[in-house]
Amino acid sequence: MAEFFGNLGSYILGFFKQLIMSFADIRPSDILDIVIVAYIIYKAIGFFKETRAKILLKGLLFLFVFWLIAQWFDLISIRWLLVKFFDYAIVAVAIIFQPELRHALERVGHSGFTKFGAGGDSAVSRAEAECIDKVCKACASMQEQKIGALIAFERSTPLGEIIATGTEIDANVSEELVSNVFYPKSPLHDGGMVIRSRRIAAAGCILPLTANTGLNKSLGTRHRAAVGLSESSDAVVVVVSEETGIVSVCINGIISRNYNQISLREKLYAELIKTEDNRADIWQKVKTLFESVLPSKKKAPKTDEAKSEEESEEKS
Ligand code: ATP
Ligand code: MG
Repeated sequence: MAEFFGNLGSYILGFFKQLIMSFADIRPSDILDIVIVAYIIYKAIGFFKETRAKILLKGLLFLFVFWLIAQWFDLISIRWLLVKFFDYAIVAVAIIFQPELRHALERVGHSGFTKFGAGGDSAVSRAEAECIDKVCKACASMQEQKIGALIAFERSTPLGEIIATGTEIDANVSEELVSNVFYPKSPLHDGGMVIRSRRIAAAGCILPLTANTGLNKSLGTRHRAAVGLSESSDAVVVVVSEETGIVSVCINGIISRNYNQISLREKLYAELIKTEDNRADIWQKVKTLFESVLPSKKKAPKTDEAKSEEESEEKS
């Protein structure tokens, strides 16, 4: 027993010695490496939290602990069985979670640096604003009349597959056309409308339903379809409830409710129009990420003389 603890002690000591030595020759590229790996792990955790992969991860962790125990007590057959299982598990996971992995990779490929519309110039922004205004007016009128609507604004994730499930329209957005599509008994009122590059691409589209069991039970399939599409893409999805007239917006799997014409317009402007503010916001996020990881230069506490000097400069 004493020998065991002696070995363990020297092992731990050796480990810490190596750790300290490796800290001594850290290069800037190592820091970058760590930042990127940390970001990937952060995103992977998000992926596991957002999808049904969370349950699988729990199962795998349980089996891993089981394997550690088998290793510790030298249980040969259980170890062999688990090793064989892990060999094939990677392939099985890739097959079972193919849709989730595809969506995750799509998101990586289309990370939110592009906004709805082609460019950042003011003419495009103005056209985008006009398009949003028309949709908001239509939503306000449908809200008043309690007409159900489901409108998805495509951003950088292509919604071609969704468009293909409906009827292609390819028309300019107008308040009348949007309202007309959702008017009860109109042939295309069932399903969702997709707006791509400021044009109505299609209507009567089938959107993927969310599997989120935590959603309010009063929300039916229209709202679940809106949340579902916002989970699997970066689209901004607007829903008008036929039952209550409540207007909701779904982004990244999160539904926010109770919009009116003005607040909806503000929300859509902020999410869909590429402005200097939005770009600055992205850079601010990148900067904050780096600042939180890189060692910061701590400012020396100011002496009273320095403070009074600063104050007199400000006054002058
Ligand atoms: P509301 O508050 O408007 O009643 P809800 O969330 O309660 O909405 P339902 O009452 O189930 O939802 O709405 C059914 C309508 O939602 C359908 O008639 C159809 O137009 C639309 N819908 C349902 N599922 C989908 C889907 N997968 N894709 C697109 N539209 C859908
Ligand atoms: Mg309903």
